[in-house]
Amino acid sequence: MSFIVAVDGPAGSGKGTVTKLIGDKLKLVTFDTGAMYRAISYHMLQEKISVDDIESVKKMLDEIDIKLDFSTGSQVLFLNGQKLVTELRTKEVNEIVSPVSHIPEVRAAMVKLQRKLAEGQNVIMEGRDIGTAVFPNAAVKIYLDASAEERAKRRLKQNLENNITNMSYEEILESINKRDENDKNSDISPLRKADDAIVVDSSNLTIDQVTDKIIKIINDKKKMIKLEKKIYSEMPESAFKHATLWSIKHAMLLFFYWPVYRLKVVNKQYVPKDGAYIICANHLNMLDALAVVCSNKRKVRFLCKDEIFKNKILRGVLKTADTIPINREKNDIESMKRTIKGLKNGDLLGIFPEGTRRGLEKNVKVKNGAAFFALKSKVKVIPLGIQGSFKPFTKVKLVYGEPLDFSEYYGKEKDKETLDKVSDIIMDNIIMLTNKEK
Ligand code: C5P
Repeated sequence: MSFIVAVDGPAGSGKGTVTKLIGDKLKLVTFDTGAMYRAISYHMLQEKISVDDIESVKKMLDEIDIKLDFSTGSQVLFLNGQKLVTELRTKEVNEIVSPVSHIPEVRAAMVKLQRKLAEGQNVIMEGRDIGTAVFPNAAVKIYLDASAEERAKRRLKQNLENNITNMSYEEILESINKRDENDKNSDISPLRKADDAIVVDSSNLTIDQVTDKIIKIINDKKKMIKLEKKIYSEMPESAFKHATLWSIKHAMLLFFYWPVYRLKVVNKQYVPKDGAYIICANHLNMLDALAVVCSNKRKVRFLCKDEIFKNKILRGVLKTADTIPINREKNDIESMKRTIKGLKNGDLLGIFPEGTRRGLEKNVKVKNGAAFFALKSKVKVIPLGIQGSFKPFTKVKLVYGEPLDFSEYYGKEKDKETLDKVSDIIMDNIIMLTNKEK
């Protein structure tokens, strides 16, 4: 799978220089998409194709061939076999590139080409719409900004370095302001920050500072992706291996848990030996899920927020019990699918409907996840009341209730009112079982 870094921002914000430096350092293929729009503009000037002559534009798009060559370590653009460098940065091209880039047919063709060129590669791509239109799922999105004056100064310096002397500072500033205006106010892919992009303002930063800042963002993201992979990885096992392994893992967990907490289980008969069920319990302490897991011969797979998996030791324990990580910030489709698949395979699932520790006392709104899975997967819910202080060397009491049958609501898992009702019934049953006298 390719790793994509999208760098968007206005003209002259330093995208070109910075992406090139980062690309070299992190070994990412560096794409300058502005050059493609410039190449088309250059070609249209050569062929005297007007921006309004859409038929000719379409014909041109069918015929032209844009190739990028990276063999020298930098992007070199060839248009119909002709290498273009200084031709792309003339005053004439500057003047029409923004209107050209706003022709829907041109945009569509370029976005398609950019996606194709990046296929299967680790890339850093700079432009105006990379994080919003070309790669909306890019791993990292940067919006590089700087004041118009600062950008004009930089463009002038860059032009002089490339022996381009046909534009003064004032002309460049005017051209930048005009292009900003055009780029931001277009109906088609306007220049705007993607919601999940990180803004880096380069006005008062040196190139090295900007580069370091972005490299840090990229490296942090890479670490995060690695960690997520560890959290969400699943080990496929054969049924036999699964059963044997679980006996060993279970014994290991009990070995550590038993000396610290005395587990007393009431109404164990309500937990069937096989078949899919959901155990729903009140949540008192970080270690209560483990009490449920240790006191059951059958594996109870809890759903647990993925943040807890970030701790190496806890991750080891959670993975041992095949806990399902869930990200509550995002709509965690992956975890939902995994849970439903587990129930289909006859899993015994564990959920804390309160969603947080001592949620009842804090008066939090009960989460509808358990109700949803019960109705969607057509399984019964086993209520469980957990009692105990969870101080070391004290007793933890687990009181199970008779499995609750919600078959009258099956198929209504998308109806919020039904889910609320089922959640309430589950919670009422749990509360009854947490009654100290039981
Ligand atoms: O980055 P550069 O200044 O070379 O881009 C030239 C012009 O091409 C921009 O001002 C913008 O109008 C257009 N462009 C675009 N989308 C991109 C890259 C550039 O519209 N992804």
